[in-house]
Amino acid sequence: MLISHHVWLIAFGAVLPAAAQQQQFTVRILERFQPKKIEILTGIVEFSAADKVICAKDSGRVVIQARDDGMEVLSCDCVYRTSAVCVIAEEEDCGVTVNLPGNVCRSYRGYLEIRKEGMILKILNHIPPEDYLKSVVGSEAGQWKEPEPEFLKAQAIIARTWAYHNPERHRNDNYDFCDLTHCQVYGGINSETPSGNHAVRATSEQVLTFNGKLLDAYYTSTCGGATSSASEVWVDKCEEYPEPVRCCGSNIFFCQKSPHFLWNTCLTGDQLGRAFFGPGAIVTALDIINRSSSGRVLRIRVCAGALKRDMSGEDFRIIAGRVLGWNKIKSASFSVTEKGNLFYFSGAGLGHGVGMCQYGAMELARCGRHAEQILSFYYPGSQVKNVRQVTR
Ligand SMILES: [Zn+2]
Ligand SMILES: [Zn+2]
Repeated sequence: MLISHHVWLIAFGAVLPAAAQQQQFTVRILERFQPKKIEILTGIVEFSAADKVICAKDSGRVVIQARDDGMEVLSCDCVYRTSAVCVIAEEEDCGVTVNLPGNVCRSYRGYLEIRKEGMILKILNHIPPEDYLKSVVGSEAGQWKEPEPEFLKAQAIIARTWAYHNPERHRNDNYDFCDLTHCQVYGGINSETPSGNHAVRATSEQVLTFNGKLLDAYYTSTCGGATSSASEVWVDKCEEYPEPVRCCGSNIFFCQKSPHFLWNTCLTGDQLGRAFFGPGAIVTALDIINRSSSGRVLRIRVCAGALKRDMSGEDFRIIAGRVLGWNKIKSASFSVTEKGNLFYFSGAGLGHGVGMCQYGAMELARCGRHAEQILSFYYPGSQVKNVRQVTR
């Protein structure tokens, strides 16, 4: 009971036992399912009800449900009312297993803190950084059957660097990260792979620095032949960033095996109208105003009759993605021709294009480059350091 009692104290803001003082990330999990009722299948469930600490340990399934006036915990045929629940793993390797009936069942390392927010359950996963990264690296490499070990190491260093650079991305909501692409995709133990976990251990605490500071390490699926400069994608970004690179050797593009290397999309004026002006509008013309040296659209004018909207190529990609799906305008590197009410796009790459190109990095690893060489290729002038020796 000693361990679980300590965790209880951490979760609810009392004394921090020495063993628990190491850094933890707080990730809000499963929010997209708007959970009202969950089942805890493995883990020790603790909460206080009527001034007593209740520990539901060997009882099997525990059900937690949001009610109008608080949370209800159902365990061993008893119903309790409480305002906060803490769940810790009984055995580290199986973690805490949460089932959302009809949706997903996932296991998490670290421990969970569950509270009610509005009419749903807010589930926070407190987790040591290196355990968080195992799942992130596993998710990022999930698209390859046998990802190269040196690619995985590079990915682990980047994912770690990004996380340490962006703690408190959800500061206003009192946690660090969500579990979606807005931050980094995090699916708990289910997303881990043996090779990804090995890469995290092999690069333990290593991060990427630039000018002596932690780098804001963006990465992208497929650059399409050349990476973007951070300043062309995020105009208000003032911190110095490594120069963009051409993602090619003497006769190949490193990311040319990516299914997103070249793409074509046809959209109607109505679809574009809905995305950029709202339902009922019809886009009549798209004028590319200028391009960057990597060929990406910098400014574009979208016209629907007399209505006009100027925006950056990156905003064009994001607005179209949110409304029409992310597989239509995959990057800001495109040209467009118009025929009647149809707009034919041909483009290259997937994503914003800043930083490491994942498909390119995989090819470099396949050709024998080490993780550090891959990183210094995509982030020229950067250095790998231990996170403890870096100022943030
Ligand atoms: Zn987020
Ligand atoms: Zn590339």
